[in-house]
This record gives sequence, C-alpha cells and structure tokens, in this order.
Amino acid sequence: MAGKIVKVSGPLVVAEGMADVKVYDVVRVSEQRLIGEVIELRNDKASIQVYEETSGLGPGEPVESTGAPLSVELAPGLIESIFDGIQRPLVAIKDIAGDRITRGIEVTALDHDKMWDFTPTAKVGDKVSGGTIIGTVQESSVVEHRVMIPLGVTGTVTWIFEGKANIVTPIIHLDTQDGIVEIPMLQKWPVRVGRPYEEKIAPVEPMVTGQRVIDTLFPIAKGGVAAVPGPFGSGKTVVQHQLAKWADADIIVYVGCGERGNEMTDVLMEFPELKDPRTGKPLMKRTVLIANTSDMPVAAREASIYTGITIAEYFRDMGYDVAIMADSTSRWAEALREMSGRLEEMPGEEGYPAYLSSRLAQYYERAGMVQCLGGERTGAISAIGAVSPPGGDLSEPVTQNTLRIVKVFWGLSSRLAYARHFPAIDWLQSYSLYVDRLGSWYDENISDDWSKLRTEAMRLLQEESELEEVVRLVGVDALSYHDRMTLEAARSIREDYLHQNAFHEVDTYTSLEKQFKMLNLIMVYYKQSIGALDSGAFFDDLVNLPAREKIGRSKFILQENLSEFDVIEKEIKDQLSDLVADGGLENA
Ligand code: ADP
Repeated sequence: MAGKIVKVSGPLVVAEGMADVKVYDVVRVSEQRLIGEVIELRNDKASIQVYEETSGLGPGEPVESTGAPLSVELAPGLIESIFDGIQRPLVAIKDIAGDRITRGIEVTALDHDKMWDFTPTAKVGDKVSGGTIIGTVQESSVVEHRVMIPLGVTGTVTWIFEGKANIVTPIIHLDTQDGIVEIPMLQKWPVRVGRPYEEKIAPVEPMVTGQRVIDTLFPIAKGGVAAVPGPFGSGKTVVQHQLAKWADADIIVYVGCGERGNEMTDVLMEFPELKDPRTGKPLMKRTVLIANTSDMPVAAREASIYTGITIAEYFRDMGYDVAIMADSTSRWAEALREMSGRLEEMPGEEGYPAYLSSRLAQYYERAGMVQCLGGERTGAISAIGAVSPPGGDLSEPVTQNTLRIVKVFWGLSSRLAYARHFPAIDWLQSYSLYVDRLGSWYDENISDDWSKLRTEAMRLLQEESELEEVVRLVGVDALSYHDRMTLEAARSIREDYLHQNAFHEVDTYTSLEKQFKMLNLIMVYYKQSIGALDSGAFFDDLVNLPAREKIGRSKFILQENLSEFDVIEKEIKDQLSDLVADGGLENA
C-alpha cells in the first residue's frame, strides 16, 4: 500500500497514509523512486529524509515503503570502492549516468556479477554460527576478505563451495533448526545499529602512527577515539593523510563530508594517489572511501558516518584493526541541524538539535577493541573525527560535545601553522586520556624509561610557556642560567623533536624506538648541561656545544642506523665533560 506526499520542504518530505511503516524504514518517493528514510512518525504521517534532490516533487505523489531499514551490503568488493553516504557506488554510477547522479537510479552497492576466488576454511560437518569464518577471498592485493556466517544463523555445514563465485550465489549450505539454509557471501546490515560482538576489551596497546607528537605526547589506543579540531589551513588534511598512510591499521575507512564541492573532489582525487608505505602499492588497496560531494543533498551526509562505521565494524568482525576517519563531523552536524530545523524541532545551542551530543556519542561508541563473535579473535576500530569549528572557536557546540566523548584531543593551532611548525598540534592544549594506561605498554615494549622521559619532556614544555611569560615582562637576562637552559631544551624539543615534515622521505615516519632515542638525546643534553652549569661551565659554551647540531639532524637517521644515536650520546657527554674540565668558576 502506498502513502501520499502532503508536503515537500527541501530534503524533507511529509507523507500520509503511512500507518504501517516503521521509523528508519527506507521508502521510495514519487514515481521517480527517490530514496528516503522515515525519521519521524506521527499517527499515519511520516517525515521522510530524502537522499536525493527533491525539486519538482509535489503533493499527491506516491510514497512506497520497502519495509527494510537503511542497510549496507557487506561482501568482497568493498575495498577500493568509493561510495556516497548511502553506499551508492560513485564510480559505477558515473559509468552509467555521467557526472551527476541521476535521480532514482538503481545500482547495487557492490558488483553482484563479479567473480571472486573463494577458498573454504570450514568443512562439511562443522558447527558454525554468526561470525564464524568459513572461507577467504583475496579481495585486493593487500586485503584478505574473511567470509563470515551472517549474524543470527547457527547450523551444521552440509556443503561448501570452492572456486569462483559471485557474492549472491550460495557458497555454503547449513542444516539449521529451520531446515537447510543456503548462504551467499553477501550480507546486509542496518547502518544505524551497531554490529554485535562477544565483549568489549579495554584498549591497552597504542595505535602507532609514526608521528612523534602523537605517539610520544598524545597517543591514541588501538580501539580509541580522537578528535582533531582545527581552523582552515592548520594541517587537518595532512594529519589525516599521515594517519591513513602510517597508522598500524589493516583497513582504512575514510568518510569525507566536504564543505564546498571542490574540497571533496580534492579527497576523491588525492586519496587514490596516496601510496601505501607498507606495501608500496596504492593506499586504496586497503581503503574504503565514502564521499559526500556538495551537489548531494545534506541528508546523505547525515547517513554517511553510519554507513562508514558499519563497514568498519564488518572488517573489525573479521579480526582486523580498522581506522575510521570522518572529515569533518562539523559538516555532518550541520546536516543534522538542517533536518532538525525542517522538522520544526525545538532548537538547542546555536540551532543544533538537543540530541546532537547523543548522536555523536552513538557514533563514537561504536569504536573500540572487541572480542569478535564466532571465533577466538579480536578486532578494533579506532575512530578519528576532524572538527572544523567556524573561526577556530573551540567553544562551539560540535567541538564541545565531541570533546566530552573522545579521549584524545589533537588541537591544531593556526599560530603554529603560521609559524610553519608542523604538525601544528598544540602541546599545551592537546591531551590524551590514554597516556597512563598505555604508559606501561611503552615501558615494557620500548624502554623502561619511556614514561619518565615523556613526563619530563611535557614538564619542560609547560615550564617554557611560564618562563616565556616572565621573559615578556622583564627580559631574558632576568632568568637564571638554569631557567635559560630549560628554554634551550624546550626549544630543542619543539624544533628537533615535535616538528616533523610529512613530505620528507625519512622524517615522515619515526618508529617508537627511534622516537625514544631522539628524545633521549635531548634529555641527556639537558640534564648533563644542568650538571655542567653547576660545575662551573659557561652557559654560552653549553648552548653552542658542537654535538647539538647532530641532535637537530637525528630525525634523518635511518631506521637501520639507530646505533648512531649511541655515538651521538657519547659525543654529547664527552664534549660536556671537557667543558667542565676546562671551565672556570665564572658562572658561579
Ligand atoms: P587544512 O586541511 O587544515 O586546511 P592542510 O592539511 O591542507 O590544511 O595543510 C595546509 C598546508 O600546511 C599543507 O599544504 C602543507 O604545506 C602544510 N603542512 C601541514 N602539515 C604539514 C606537515 N606535517 N609537514 C609539512 N607541511 C605540512
């Protein structure tokens, strides 16, 4: 039975005669069969968020329910794909319809005809249930797709296929309570419902990114959640690309909500160009891209982050570590605001609906490290959301609500970006609530002294900002030599350590081992210099110590030459003790 449109307001359509639909059911609107989703029901009147351009639609046109919630297709073919917010394949559509998506177009999200080589791992007689891995498909040159029994099905294998198959033909037969069930590789899952798991595990391991300011000062756990707010031009995109390239995640899901048309086109052009440093192949070989271009209605943006995280959960369930990046959640929140306005809901702060914070929480909650269903394996989703506060004002609602949820905050500063200090992550503003928990991992796996060194480095940076205040008021001459040494060391931490050039072949990635050795050099120099000052060495000689130049260049030492650090450390120590040996008592 079909309902009828009574009102059209941009992406919002109200229809009556809809008593038998449910909230979140997908509907087809008008003869053009535009895709919409019921977002509110009052008696037999449904408010529908339409994911396609609604111009020309009018009252009286039919609305038909599909009886199913907004869902994604999950099967081989996800990797390397570029989808829109409701998982329509942009490349396939472009082939059919040209640059703009034709309204009401019918294309499946994944290619149902493509043949994949299925290698079974289950055998006849095996008892399987939701989540059990029954076989594999080499999905891209880098990703092995682990085909799982859909959730909710339990039975005994009576037949399993081997060889080439598409994703809709059954590849396994199960004897279940309800008789024989034939199952293809393709599964569907409603995007607004988190996929279940056995249990959530507290994150204990860092997601190593090779970015020194992140790994050392503000680490994110595998399965952790982080936000990167930053004004335009402060390096958000470079940070996200660096994370996509270097984070030790198996799969990357990148959800882009561009502001202007060209911003998203940039992502669509740039991402496929990125090379995966681990494999030397294109990064797309382990990436799923979700892109909202600006010519798509706002509603599709609202759905995009759920589409993204559902795909991320599916790969997590295979036992993979997934990193999902949403750029930017501010654009997503604006879509929420626009829909809320059209629904004539009571506006909250700055016009955003009161449920902004719960919606953000529902998204970030789906990150985490879990024990997967159907086998002894763990998988993780680490979620990183970029926020673009208008005018860089962090007190606005999207940033504030995000900060209440996430555990890591990498605050990009336009002041640092302007001074060309990259990554422009402000060390005084940023934080990571994982520091304590991950500290023991670093101490056990990298060096006993890791946490100590990190604390000392942070302390120096904080002291620097206090001392700078004094210098501003009374000048540097008023400081003791100890304090001036602190300033020197802090400057070295900033310039020699935190500053990292994303475009330099060696500097772009620093292993944890090397991070420790680099920071250690700076701290050895600092501590020994303080000692030397006390023993009568000249401050100027300490500042001009020849070996310091090598500290500055240590970022370019190759991973295979880490022993060079020991040589430099010895040089620092030797040169300092020479100074003490022939220094007078002038400083005293
Ligand atoms: P946003 O996305 O915040 O507008 P971008 O990420 O595009 O900003 O960064 C702006 C510019 O800053 C880049 O084109 C690049 O020149 C520079 N930049 C940002 N991060 C780095 C980095 N880690 N190393 C070197 N240059 C950087």
